Amino acid sequence: MLFSKTNETNRESNSTPIFGSIESNSEIPKCKLGMDSIAPNLAYRMIKDELMDEGNARLNLATFCQTYMEDEAVKLMSETLEKNAIDKSEYPQTTEMENRCVNIIADLWNAPKEGKFLGTSTVGSSEACMLGGMAMKFRWRNRAKKLGLDVNNRKPNLVISSGFQVCWEKFCVYWDIEMRTVPMDNEHMSIDVDKVLDYVDEYTIGIVGILGITYTGKFDDIKALNDVVEKYNSTTEHKVYIHVDAASGGMFTPFINPELEWDFRLKNVVSINTSGHKYGLVYPGIGWILWRDEECLPKELIFEVSYLGGNMPTMAINFSRSASQVIGQYYNFLRFGLDGYRKIHAKTKDVAMYLSDEIEKLGLFEIYNNGENLPIVCYKLKDEDSVQWTLYDLADRLLMKGWQVPAYPLPEDLQNTIIQRVVCRADLSHDMVELFIRDFKTAINDLNNARILTHKKDNEKKVYGFTH
Ligand SMILES: *Cc1c(COP(=O)(O)O)cnc(C)c1O
Repeated sequence: MLFSKTNETNRESNSTPIFGSIESNSEIPKCKLGMDSIAPNLAYRMIKDELMDEGNARLNLATFCQTYMEDEAVKLMSETLEKNAIDKSEYPQTTEMENRCVNIIADLWNAPKEGKFLGTSTVGSSEACMLGGMAMKFRWRNRAKKLGLDVNNRKPNLVISSGFQVCWEKFCVYWDIEMRTVPMDNEHMSIDVDKVLDYVDEYTIGIVGILGITYTGKFDDIKALNDVVEKYNSTTEHKVYIHVDAASGGMFTPFINPELEWDFRLKNVVSINTSGHKYGLVYPGIGWILWRDEECLPKELIFEVSYLGGNMPTMAINFSRSASQVIGQYYNFLRFGLDGYRKIHAKTKDVAMYLSDEIEKLGLFEIYNNGENLPIVCYKLKDEDSVQWTLYDLADRLLMKGWQVPAYPLPEDLQNTIIQRVVCRADLSHDMVELFIRDFKTAINDLNNARILTHKKDNEKKVYGFTH
């Protein structure tokens, strides 16, 4: 006999099958700590099983965030989870890799060679946008004070199109800034550059251009924006500059459309952010922000931390976090190189444009975005009265096959239009998209023949997770 009869719990954790254990036959502690410890294999199994109903992330076509990394990347990242990104002196080589990433991105974004660009990793674009916004605010205040403006007379403001991502609203609320939105309409599905200056005055801390509107994947015309800003600045002392929110486009466009001028080639673009976990191809959360020159980042915002016996400037809202995402980003840069990113993104774009064609051929949908700029396919029902169902019904039907494809209203000023959006990512192969199209057609056929539909046609606007 290997176990004494009295040692019941010990025996449990050592050799009892998981699904013969006491734990597998009891409710697990949820909102209060359990009295006793349980075996690690049991805890693992139970948590893993609870997460099963969230579906397969690879079939989640709602998110921009990475759902696949190579085994070697995953291994490397899980082996470096304990490294703290803020401890520059304890982990100097990790810091070196972060700096290399900043340099690589500066090169991709054509940072001027003569200038001294600065940049940092962040948790994601949201933190990066906060930093970019703060830099604009502080810089504006320094400029405005010098020009004798009473900076406390009015709230400073930020100008952006109504297609903004929620992080900008957060920025404005948290930092007490008035958000001025340039409305979009059917002719202007991105920032209206002819109207943008109507929103600018001497209290404007900056204008945000979006390279990849989250809702539709469309691009603001940053070059045209730069031109109007250039003209405006030549007429006033109260100059205004551009921050580009390139959360999704920043790691896609440089590879797929390097001729498009949206980055530091444009004189008035002072800072740019991107999400490493979108088309940078790293698991969340990692983001980046770069300033074209150190003069664009007021010194008051920089904190020194010790690094290799000296000091190093840092800027972050967060303090401790794992450095594994930074290491994952560097792995991708090293592993893929320019050509690898180009091949992956070109394939993703092909897949998106193919999907868009196939959806268009069905004759029911009007395509808002065909995957040309970013591999986002976005469409609405051409004539809502031609069918008995809505895009919400279609989303539900697709979910039965595991595909998550959100339907939602467009932002302010276009909110009566309900669209559906498919975000094509690197791990969506041509073969997978063929399966998707097959299920898409079946779903429509089923809906056309269905007798019970769950979503009312009139005015029901449900919002699925569209903000990421
Ligand atoms: C996704 C997104 C963000 C937020 O990015 P996170 O990395 O998820 O914080 C900000 N702006 C735009 C335009 C986005 O698409």
